Amino acid sequence: MKYKLLLVTTFTIIAFTGNLLAQNKKKTTSKAVVTSNNKIARPKLMVGIVVDQMRWDYLYRFYDLYKAGGFKRLMNQGFSCDNTMVPYLPTVTACGHTCVYTGSVPAIHGITGNNWFDNKTQKSVYCTEDNNDSIKTVGSNTIDAGRMSPQNVLVTTITDELRLASNFQSKVIGLSIKDRGAIIPAGHAANAAYWYDGKSGNFISSTYYMKELPEWMQAFNKRKLTDSLYNLNWNTIMPASVYNKYCDTDENTYESKLGGRTSFPYNLAQFAGKDFSKISGTPYGNNLLFEAAKVAINAEQLGKGENTDFICISFSSTDYVGHAFGPNSWELADTYIRLDETLSNLLDYLDKTVGQNQYSLFLTADHAGAHVPEFLNKHHINGGRMDDGDINKELKALMNTQYGNSKIINAVDEFDIYLNHALIDTMKLDIKTVKETISKYLLLKDYVLNVVDKANASDATIPVKIKEMVINGYNPGRSGDLQIINKTGVIDGGKTGMTHGVWNTYDAHIPLLFYGYGISNGHLNRETYMTDISATVAALLHIQMPSGCIGKVIEEVIKKP
Ligand SMILES: [Zn+2]
Repeated sequence: MKYKLLLVTTFTIIAFTGNLLAQNKKKTTSKAVVTSNNKIARPKLMVGIVVDQMRWDYLYRFYDLYKAGGFKRLMNQGFSCDNTMVPYLPTVTACGHTCVYTGSVPAIHGITGNNWFDNKTQKSVYCTEDNNDSIKTVGSNTIDAGRMSPQNVLVTTITDELRLASNFQSKVIGLSIKDRGAIIPAGHAANAAYWYDGKSGNFISSTYYMKELPEWMQAFNKRKLTDSLYNLNWNTIMPASVYNKYCDTDENTYESKLGGRTSFPYNLAQFAGKDFSKISGTPYGNNLLFEAAKVAINAEQLGKGENTDFICISFSSTDYVGHAFGPNSWELADTYIRLDETLSNLLDYLDKTVGQNQYSLFLTADHAGAHVPEFLNKHHINGGRMDDGDINKELKALMNTQYGNSKIINAVDEFDIYLNHALIDTMKLDIKTVKETISKYLLLKDYVLNVVDKANASDATIPVKIKEMVINGYNPGRSGDLQIINKTGVIDGGKTGMTHGVWNTYDAHIPLLFYGYGISNGHLNRETYMTDISATVAALLHIQMPSGCIGKVIEEVIKKP
């Protein structure tokens, strides 16, 4: 009896295992991996969109103001990861673009700020500067604007990986108003990156990529679109009642000035032919970029080849407008209403040129942004201002009194204090004591919550979330020694407007939308991270993830067979 039962059981197990194997076999040949003509299923074009300083809540705060074809199309037909967080410090543009496109953090990818102090060379560095003699500006006479490259990025980008995967047959192009917004996303092996030179009004590049601008870009620059856009001037696109409903009052002393004013209408025609830089701080910077992107897609035949191409478009004007006027201003609301329309036009253009459901797209931000402190105060909410520059001066004075040498402080940038280690050694000072002296001094300040010794951050008695962000942002060669953690709502610098850079949700909570080929429809409230974007794109494209990637694939995003 027992023998018989065993036999039956064994048979059942064999049959069951056999069935499982058959199922597995079926799965590995699923249509999710190959198309009907047995090619790996990939979109023709990958579109990466970064909206500089876009807070996640703009998706919902302005939802009713958006039309059907822009943000709403992405949200309702694509996939929204509603709790995507930046997992490192500082939350600024260069670090954000690098994280989005590398899936990595400053500790590994090396971009520790827009600027940082290099502890080896003892010099300040701009994230995309390239002082190699062979690197020159292409497309204008502005000497420094094009002396740029991604050489400071220490890992590969998802765009590099696409180039590697296709034996460099996939085309990769980066476009932005900001140099770093174009250069970092496009990666080391890019075909090209183009950014806006405010002095000449041209989109320019660097000899890192090319000897001269392609004809189509030269022709685009000749159109002098900046002047045409200036001549439109800037007034609200919707009736005043809309802005009254969604925003703070238009005129405020805590807003920065544009052409001498802080409220609508703005006379931009006065800048035509004179000052090409002002367009960056208006919604028209986004229009200008969109026009350049359209020309690039068409001229370079992106999405038309055998291999998947990748275009990286980073809208920078949202950041400039945010800094100047703040998240609750009429100017910011108007900029997003207009960006929504631009987005809708971009999707229509992609439908027409690449084909509906032939491209995949993600839209995210490099960081979010704080409210204007004075606006918060008006409503009894905590907020204030401090200044990295003042801290620098004060700490130098402190070092002079305590140790007789102000040069112990190398720099203070993004709430990060850089110490001169060589000098501390020569002076035979105990670095631990120096750090304690600085911390003690700073903790007396009303706006300081804590000061973290970055090299020993794992021992700091602070919430794990902040600790992790400090550690992820710490790169001994390119970071400072002490991280100032301010009270919530305290921003760095300026007398007007706002900024970003800290760990708090208002700076670290970003939108993340996926749309198009291979993308499911839905949304997710589980916490996801900026580092997951590249991992997910790698899975979608069936290519290797970037070399320093620490993110995970957001599986819910990818359409099941
Ligand atoms: Zn910014």
